Amino acid sequence: MKVSRREFLIVAGGTAGAVAAGTTPLVRRVLPPRRRFWYQKATAAVPTVCEMCLWRCGAVAYVADGRVAKIEGHPDNPKSNGRLCARGLAGVGELYDPDRLKRPLIRTGARGEGKFREATWEEALDYAARALLRIKEQYGPEALAVFGHYAGDKWFVDYLAPAFGTPNAAKPSVSLCTTPREVASNLTFGRPLGGHEPVDWEHTRYIVLLGTHIGENAHNTMMQDFAAARARGAKVVVVDPRFSTVAAKADHYLPIKPGTDTALLLAWMHVLITQNLYDRDYIAQYTEGFEPLAEHVKPFTPEWAAKITDLPAEKIVEVARDLARYRPQAVLVPGRHVTWYGNDTQRMRGLYLVNVLLGNYGRPGGFYLAVAPYVDEYALPPFPAAPDSGG
Ligand code: SF4
Repeated sequence: MKVSRREFLIVAGGTAGAVAAGTTPLVRRVLPPRRRFWYQKATAAVPTVCEMCLWRCGAVAYVADGRVAKIEGHPDNPKSNGRLCARGLAGVGELYDPDRLKRPLIRTGARGEGKFREATWEEALDYAARALLRIKEQYGPEALAVFGHYAGDKWFVDYLAPAFGTPNAAKPSVSLCTTPREVASNLTFGRPLGGHEPVDWEHTRYIVLLGTHIGENAHNTMMQDFAAARARGAKVVVVDPRFSTVAAKADHYLPIKPGTDTALLLAWMHVLITQNLYDRDYIAQYTEGFEPLAEHVKPFTPEWAAKITDLPAEKIVEVARDLARYRPQAVLVPGRHVTWYGNDTQRMRGLYLVNVLLGNYGRPGGFYLAVAPYVDEYALPPFPAAPDSGG
């Protein structure tokens, strides 16, 4: 409903006058009595999933008159816990965005000319299938490369590509994000870390974030877990060249020189080992290769790291001692988007090794060992190429 400036002044003046005179205000003259907002109408609460990012939080969509009026977190969903992030809450805007693609478009003009016509799904799929088969006949299946990301990419990248016969399938966005930490996890723990980072936020008491900007880039659940841990009194250390949002909330902010995090991690290992602060029993019981590691980190003193990282040696020692004091309820969070400077897999190995020295892998307050429910593999027809998207 639009209210003109003149109508507003009439109402405001009338209301003020009515209040002064003790009579009924004039609001009825401009507000149609039958106008009702969506929450005053019969509303259906439809359980759904937020698709605004790949995290896929459980949500509830409130539908009135056949339109989604509002989305909020589903209270029983462990990813959202009844709350969505700002991006998720904005999902209604995307749903009804007039520029949103809802039907396939087929180009009718020259490439780049921007001319398209709408097509049915059947026509579009036939069109794409014919073009793919033409490529296969003319150049062979390997002439096709498939790139994917987001919900549903598994079918596209892991199944369509090998069924077509091309090994050229990749998820480049994953390589830019979590791949170094997954490769490093395989090398350190013999298994990947997994998508939903298995940090035991509930029991941790000391959190170290290296280049992780929780509050600026994290998924909903991690933000909530971090906020709850902080509210419970967990100490927070932020290592970041930039004074990020979370750095403003940290107990220790370490403004490290960009690209030198591995030196800091080596120095922390040096302090933990040479000052006998690591978890000796845990190392003896669950690990191998400790002696060569201890030998390797001998030269990497806090003073050595201070020259490289621009951080005071005393601060490096102080955090290492804190880590030891709180272990195993102290954790260096692996984070996301860990592809930075080219030595990322080695940096992530260093980060995991500090965690291992704290004895926190598989312990409360550190990393829990996630177990997926066993589901039989779906019987697929034999593929001409093996699925290997690497993501
Ligand atoms: S993290 Fe935010 S955008 Fe992503 S699925 Fe959850 S609510 Fe939606």
